This record gives sequence, C-alpha cells and structure tokens, in this order.
Amino acid sequence: MRNEAWIDEVLSKKGEKGQERCIRVFAGSGGKLTIDGREYLSFSSNDYLNLANHPDVIERSRILLEKHGAGATASRLVAGTLGVHDELEHALASFRGSPSAVLFGTGYLANAGVITSLVGGDDHIFLDRLAHASIVDAAVTSRGRIHRFRHNDCEHLNELLSGTKGGKRLVVAESLYSMDGDIAPLQDIVSVAECHNAMIMVDEAHATGVFGPCGRGLVSEFGLMNRVNVSMGTLGKSFGSYGGFIACSQRIRALCVNQARSLIYTTAPPPSAVGAALGALHIIEQEPDLGSTLLRRAKTFRARLVEAGYTIPEGHSQIIPLIIGGNRATMSFAERLRASGIIVNGIRPPTVPAGTSRLRFSVTLAHEEVDLEHAAGVIEKTGSLLGVI
Ligand code: PMP
Repeated sequence: MRNEAWIDEVLSKKGEKGQERCIRVFAGSGGKLTIDGREYLSFSSNDYLNLANHPDVIERSRILLEKHGAGATASRLVAGTLGVHDELEHALASFRGSPSAVLFGTGYLANAGVITSLVGGDDHIFLDRLAHASIVDAAVTSRGRIHRFRHNDCEHLNELLSGTKGGKRLVVAESLYSMDGDIAPLQDIVSVAECHNAMIMVDEAHATGVFGPCGRGLVSEFGLMNRVNVSMGTLGKSFGSYGGFIACSQRIRALCVNQARSLIYTTAPPPSAVGAALGALHIIEQEPDLGSTLLRRAKTFRARLVEAGYTIPEGHSQIIPLIIGGNRATMSFAERLRASGIIVNGIRPPTVPAGTSRLRFSVTLAHEEVDLEHAAGVIEKTGSLLGVI
C-alpha cells in the first residue's frame, strides 16, 4: 500500500549496511538436522542438553496435550492456571532452591514482568552494557532511570550506584552472556549491590541446565541464592520447551501477580509446553552430569579452534564466539560453512557492537566428540580458504 512506502527506505538502509535480516525455514530443531536427505551439524540451536526431541520430554508433553487440550485458553489470573502450571512453578522454585517461582509465557515476558514490577518512575536500574534486549526493553518500559555499566566492570557499577540518590535501585546482570559466552563476576556484582542496598536480579537464560549443581545455574554454583532477589530462566533453551520463569521470594511473586502486565494480560503457557518443561526438569535432576559433559566437549572444541589460529575471547562455556569483524565477511563465512554441512548464525549489529560481527557457535549434547572434531576441521579449512586464519 502507498502509505507503507517509507518501509522500503528503512529496509534498504539496513541492506546497505549489510544488516538486513530474514527468516530462514528449518527442517527441524536441535543440534543435528537432516535437510533434503543431507545431515547437518547445527550450532544455531540453544537446545543445549539435546532435550527438545528427548522421548520422555515428548511423552510428558503429549500426555498433557491430550489431557488438557492445545491451549490454556485464558490468562494466568483468569482461568489459565491449571494444576500443571502450579506444579511446574513449585518444581522450578525447588530446582533453584528459592521460596517461590513465577511462570511466564517466555523469558522475554519474565524479564518484562519482574523488572517493571520492581522498578518505577522514581527508581534507578543498573544494566551491563551487553544486557540482552529483553532486559533493556523492560528497563525502558519501567520508566526508571537507566544506568549502563561497562561490561562486567564492578568498579564502574560501584561508581554509578554511588552517584544516585533516592528511589529504589535494581542491578541486573546475566550470569552467562549470550553473545560473548563469558561469565559475569557475580560474587563481586552482588557485593557491590549489597553495599548500596540495591536489589539484584540475575538472568540465567544461558546458564540454567548447564552450570551449577544439577544445572541449577551460576547463582547456585557461586552459593549466592540467599543474596540474589531474582534469578530468571527460560524454558526455551536447556529445557527444550517454551516459556520463562523467575525464582524469587513470596513477596516478589505476590508483587508480580498483582503488577506484572506480561503475566496478567497474556494467555498462560500451553499445557504441552508445561509438560515438556516438567519432563526436561526431571531429566536434568536425574542426570546431574549433563552440564559438565557439555562443558567438557565445548572446551575441547574451543581449544581446537584456537589451535587452528582463530581468535576467540576467553571463556569457559558452551557458547563460542568466533569474531570475524565485518558484516558481509561474517555472513559469507556462514554461507560457506552451510555448504559444507555446518549451520551457524552470523551475529551482526545492533545485536553486537559494530566491527565485531561474529559466528556464534552453541555446542549442544547432540554434538558427539567426533562431530565436533569434524566441524573444527571444516571450520579450519574454510577459514584458511577465506583468509580469516
Ligand atoms: N535473556 C537472555 C539473556 C536471552 O538470551 C534470552 C533469549 N535469547 C532471553 C532472556 C529471552 O528468553 P526467551 O527466548 O524465553 O524469550
């Protein structure tokens, strides 16, 4: 339509900068895919523990689908909370070792709901420079004053906290950063926040299921459960399902139930997603070595890429960023790898700072050691062909 013509200009500007995006249709999900009869290793999936297609997860999901139907049919506060939603919230609270939990439609909605409940117009919110978009959006929506500290820089956080007066204060950090794969100095962040009597929230979207005892996360690994007000998680990554949650006190739960618009004004998660999450949680609790196995494999893969000559930021997680620099160079590297049976996402600005476009490899338990060795060989060959190494 004629009144939409401005959109072409917006999109062509993105194209000129090599930042255009498109939705690609995949033949399946997870770390290994068959497309048109050809096997691919996918490093684009967040199904870290390879649970999305686990038979027990599918079975638990199927049972609840058949028992309760396809949708929850109402919001959590109206008639959308079934016994299984309640069961999952209790299970997630006990998984995290916290008094309570709140289940949201997604991790994005969990961040939106809790941040806007805790922070208002007279308050201050402190975010890492690399905070995920869901945290930034929530902070903006909260109308609180936003302060950005340099990535993982506790001294800068301390300075910013010292410079504010009045209102409540909330510090938000991610335990494992999704684009760099590095771990936050949580003990120091918590200590600094405590000195200023600020509330602390940790987004554990990428650490849940992988780090900590039985995959409980890094807050648990560092023994900070009683010093952190909110630990957030998603059911869309290690749990292989869909949904998000926060673990918190009974008070924060009550506040969210009364004020979190992303909980109140949206349909409750479908029973099948809840069933899948319950199935995954059971496996994670029964098989405490899943996370350490994944981290061991990722460490070998990372070392192999460094050996091949790639520059990879320091890190100890399943997320391995291979920084290429330019947008087009990154995307054509990804295309070359795809032609060789390796699927990986090119990440460009604005998701990451300009000049640091990268291939982001997520290692999952679908990748056996031999798969990773094969992938490393292909990545080495492709990189030297393109003059990257
Ligand atoms: N926080 C972080 C750090 C994330 O990476 C993501 C997902 N990419 C989310 C929150 C949102 O989780 P979800 O995908 O469940 O909305």
